[in-house]
Amino acid sequence: NGPSPHVSKDGPVLIIGSTGFIGRFVTESCLDSGRPTYLLVRPGVTSCHFKSAVIKSFEEKGAITVHGSMDDGDLMEKVFRELKIEIVISAVGGKNILDQLKLVETIKVTGTVKRFLPSEFGHDIDRADPVEPGLTMYAEKRKVRRAIEKAGIPYTYICCNSIAAWPYHDNTHPADVLPPLDCFHIYGDGSVKAYFVAGTDIGKFTMKSMDDIRTVNKSVHFRPPSNLLNINELATLWEQKIGRTLPRVTITENDLLDAAREMRIPESIVASFTHDIFINGCQINFSIEEPEDLDVSSLYPDARFRTIDECFNDFLLKLVENPKVLKQASGNNNNNGIIMPAPKQEA
Ligand code: NDP
Repeated sequence: NGPSPHVSKDGPVLIIGSTGFIGRFVTESCLDSGRPTYLLVRPGVTSCHFKSAVIKSFEEKGAITVHGSMDDGDLMEKVFRELKIEIVISAVGGKNILDQLKLVETIKVTGTVKRFLPSEFGHDIDRADPVEPGLTMYAEKRKVRRAIEKAGIPYTYICCNSIAAWPYHDNTHPADVLPPLDCFHIYGDGSVKAYFVAGTDIGKFTMKSMDDIRTVNKSVHFRPPSNLLNINELATLWEQKIGRTLPRVTITENDLLDAAREMRIPESIVASFTHDIFINGCQINFSIEEPEDLDVSSLYPDARFRTIDECFNDFLLKLVENPKVLKQASGNNNNNGIIMPAPKQEA
């Protein structure tokens, strides 16, 4: 007899982690959707110029900031009740996954939140099986899942797979960096496929799923068929964009395992996930089993995903707009051997 999972169309949303890598995409989409959007922001954020600017830009678009931390139960209870929060989305990073246990407890005690989306935004953590140290992070995310289920809180788990970018095995936020301009690191034989989803689509389809009655207590999998590529195909696509071929260096399974064993955090966590994706095939080695699992493309057949080709065009634009990097990429000879992207076409 938990809270009703029926969310009203204008029910307020609270986003935790809006200054983060994934949280920024989710917040943008939430504001675009026109829903009342509250952002929980930790007090220290004002000391970071970048994060303050992010918050300011969200506020200009209508977001309302609430200051505090999600593990402050009294504050969160007050926030849920007074602001009549119906949906809570958490996009906290790997270091803070277990802080969500206190949040789950508060959501349960308050009993007013109608849907909770915990910080997932990656693989199906009950199925994926990375080596350490990635495994510890998944064990923590699993703990949060079990606490939500035990508390009877209506939930949706967003399994959006990889962000559309070059999958560097030592970078937690690959979409913030350009694909390689010197050489490609190819994992294993480069034949294992993965799904690459634009950050904006992670936001867009999270919005569609968060109040959909069909997604209550389900895992929603992002598997756009157009964005299923192996790393060799990804390298070829980028080569076509920049108009040059780059050397390919093999990173073997053992190289990835060694990088994971180094226990450099967060790089080793990313290495263990890279191993799970491109060696074990963790995104493709299981089928979606209804009723617990739903494929987002089946749920919203008319909604279009951005293709990886379009996402790579964005990287190319960033490259040509940055003269320093462009010069480096074209061998310092002023040559724009780089192929320019076609002008953007209006839909
Ligand atoms: P970040 O580290 O970039 O951001 C974390 C955010 O959470 C920050 O805004 C931080 O606030 C906030 N936060 C942390 N603890 C608290 C707290 N106690 N109370 C309130 N706010 C808090 O996270 P990521 O975007 O890297 O990760 C988010 C999720 O996405 C994770 O589950 C991660 O595994 C996943 N992910 C998926 C990727 C993919 O390719 N599919 C890539 C990267 C991440 P503050 O500004 O105060 O620090």
